[in-house]
Amino acid sequence: MNAMKKRICILGSTGSVGKNALKVAKSLGSRLEVCALAAKSSGTLLLRQAKEFGVKEIAIADKEEARVLSKRVAGKMRIFAGKEGIVHLAACSKADIVLMAISGAGSVRSTYAAVSAGKDIALASKEALVAAGRIITETAKRKGARVLPVDSEHCAIHQCIEGRGRSDVKKLIITATGGPFLDLPRAQLKYIKPEDALKHPKWRMGKKISIDSATMINKGLEVIEASWLFGVDVKDIEVLIHPEAIVHSMVEFIDGSVIAQLGITDMRLPIQYALTYPRRYDSILKKLDLADIKQLTFRKPDRKKFPLLGLSYEAGVKGGSSGCALSAANEACVNAFLAGEINFGDISRIVEKVMSRHRVIKRPDLRQIEEISRWAVDEVKKCY
Ligand code: MG
Repeated sequence: MNAMKKRICILGSTGSVGKNALKVAKSLGSRLEVCALAAKSSGTLLLRQAKEFGVKEIAIADKEEARVLSKRVAGKMRIFAGKEGIVHLAACSKADIVLMAISGAGSVRSTYAAVSAGKDIALASKEALVAAGRIITETAKRKGARVLPVDSEHCAIHQCIEGRGRSDVKKLIITATGGPFLDLPRAQLKYIKPEDALKHPKWRMGKKISIDSATMINKGLEVIEASWLFGVDVKDIEVLIHPEAIVHSMVEFIDGSVIAQLGITDMRLPIQYALTYPRRYDSILKKLDLADIKQLTFRKPDRKKFPLLGLSYEAGVKGGSSGCALSAANEACVNAFLAGEINFGDISRIVEKVMSRHRVIKRPDLRQIEEISRWAVDEVKKCY
């Protein structure tokens, strides 16, 4: 066996990040072996992926679909059912690294299970760190598991900061495209429909993160995510609008030097980085052509127009269970918006209201984190 071969488990393989990860695995051939796959539903696609990559262990959250799949594979594959099946696979597959690409609060348990088992994580689900950053990072450290970011901004910072001590870092500068409504007048935000909000100008992503980009809470969640990943205080993390999405983020060091990472806007780049770390391999992706792009622009974000950005900073400063409440309230609002139950402007209004009612727990355990998540979802429902 090739000594550099890594075995990977992909949780959320039928979503946007999961599908791209399989493309990366295919392009890298024998360097990556996909050994386990999991999805929330979409059983037919999951099965097709498993067959294509010769995967023998899969998990599916939807128990009815799990029953159907079990009949179809008739003992040729092991199928784990339910959310607990996904958690089991996160910890017990043969994988060296688990790509966590399940969106939302559903990612907390399996991320925790994987790091508890000492497995490296390629983390695409920022909600896991926002909600349970302390537990996940402390457990990972204790178990010797690496948490490698797949989020493009954090992947950029990881590359800029590598080999440097924390004391050399002055601040992190996270770039943001500004989403589809960057230049829309604030007064018009309330007329936005889900289909408008799902049209991201630069990245093709799942629904939850697309709406989060439109409200810009995605950037707020990324600030909290970065503070856990790199041990930097949220007040030393700046958000900078950069509509071209070529500079994926930067680090300013104490001597005033700023190091940036640039690349084309394609999720496969950070996915490959995380999955093959610390090695780098050729990629099939188009290479960056700066002469073609010509100019890169930057400006400060409009905090009035995107109040969830400021609210995220507040949650980050308060710490403890604040991130969990913020993330869960937002997720419930995004679901309500996508279902046509609230309008776009309600998202920030309701999240703010729920946050004002949240009593912060300083060092919540996993059970408390799940309780707070459920509490926040119930509180959201009371607001519309
Ligand atoms: Mg990102």
